[in-house]
Amino acid sequence: MGRIGKLTTAHGKITTPTLMPVIDPSDVILTPIEMRREFGTELVMTNAYLIMKYFGEKATKYGIHRILGYDGPIMTDSGGYQILRYGGVEVSPEEIIRYQDIMSPDIATILDTPTGVHPTKERAKQTVQTTVERAKQAVQLRSNPKVMWCGPVQGGLFNDLVAKSAREIGKLDYHIHAIGGPVELLEKYRYVELVDLVITAKQNLPLQRPVHLFGAGHPMMLALSVAMGCDLFDSAAYILYARDGRYLTSEGTFHLADLSYFPCECPVCVENFPQKLRHMPKEKQIKLLAIHNLHVTFGEIRRVRQLIIEGKLWEHVQLRCRAHPRLLEGFRRLLEYTNFIERFDPVTKKSTFYYSGGESVGRPEVLRHRRRLENRYKPPSLPTLAIMPAFERERPKLSKPERTHLVRVIPPFGVIPEELEEIYPLGQTRAPKKLDPEQIKTATESLRRFLKLYGKCYKQILLFNNEHHWSNSLIKACNSVVEKLKIIELYKIHHRKIK
Ligand SMILES: [Zn+2]
Repeated sequence: MGRIGKLTTAHGKITTPTLMPVIDPSDVILTPIEMRREFGTELVMTNAYLIMKYFGEKATKYGIHRILGYDGPIMTDSGGYQILRYGGVEVSPEEIIRYQDIMSPDIATILDTPTGVHPTKERAKQTVQTTVERAKQAVQLRSNPKVMWCGPVQGGLFNDLVAKSAREIGKLDYHIHAIGGPVELLEKYRYVELVDLVITAKQNLPLQRPVHLFGAGHPMMLALSVAMGCDLFDSAAYILYARDGRYLTSEGTFHLADLSYFPCECPVCVENFPQKLRHMPKEKQIKLLAIHNLHVTFGEIRRVRQLIIEGKLWEHVQLRCRAHPRLLEGFRRLLEYTNFIERFDPVTKKSTFYYSGGESVGRPEVLRHRRRLENRYKPPSLPTLAIMPAFERERPKLSKPERTHLVRVIPPFGVIPEELEEIYPLGQTRAPKKLDPEQIKTATESLRRFLKLYGKCYKQILLFNNEHHWSNSLIKACNSVVEKLKIIELYKIHHRKIK
């Protein structure tokens, strides 16, 4: 579901997925212009509620772009997060809509009522209702055509409420949708619930609208979030972590105090070493850590974009989710939604399908092959079916090739009829020859289904035993499938090892 998009704003085009560094108007460590120069930042984010507190009418008089000294795209958040953290804000929903409308950011956000992760269902229901009501009211209040509006989805951990919230807000005139509530889930590494939240929202939102995942700016989980179809990410993490001496990497977070080396290639890490940074004045140390944190995060965004183009995002997610067991848990949850994801997965890709561990059998390509074999396939009318548990496309010697239909059982896909073997990705897959249990399970399950559906179309079924040491386990498994089905006459023939 990961996608490259173009978002046109009043101050320029943005390529998504992208990261919006959050600018705290009261304490600017790096200006938006520095960020653009250093990291190629396309969009920055600031908080309309805090702007109102610090600048008041000055911001409505001069506009947000002059206040931040930046002529590129700016998004404003409205204070919903402050409600969640501090229990309330001293501004009404109408005020904050009008305020943003006048100071004219490129993207503005309504004041929603965050559900969070703790409330009762009754309270959660109320937050969804209030947010939808405010979203409806905001549509009436808006008057500045230059501003695009973001309508947040709420509902927290109640999937039915998230679905309802997404459906309701998706019907309204909004340009972008934000998924609220993940901050608390991210802080506690609750990735399973994050996956449920995001996928439920995506299943119910208009798919053409960009989706912003609130507070998800850690490079470790960007790939997973993009794979779920999120397009915009905000990062306050770069600076919050830096203040705390925390050093972001795509593999997780380190503490400056614990580092002997910098595992990174950015200018900060090449020119310094941890010992040196630890002895710097605090402000300088924070700034350098913040610069590093943004470098790795933008680096990951560029990597993810490139891998989307190459059709290799899935393999990258699989790799990234090895960084933490909870992340792996989240990724495994995502596999439970493969049914939905398969609709968005390109039927052909530029790249080879690389098998990179047990989760690869849960890939959309594997599911698609199984479905198509069951729903669209018709075997040729030949009397003999020859089944060959195999890995490579060796050609067995058949006594009557013109009367025989050859199908290979190749993990992870399973049954691949000979006439389909050039279809992507069946002929463009690389997998290790030492099979793992998941590969054998999906391959033999595929054979079982195939024989159940089409076994009666043949008069005779042959099962090859080609004695390759690496496919012994597969041959055994295929044997037991064929024997259990007790279909017609079964001949087992031994095939010479092919050099
Ligand atoms: Zn670095």
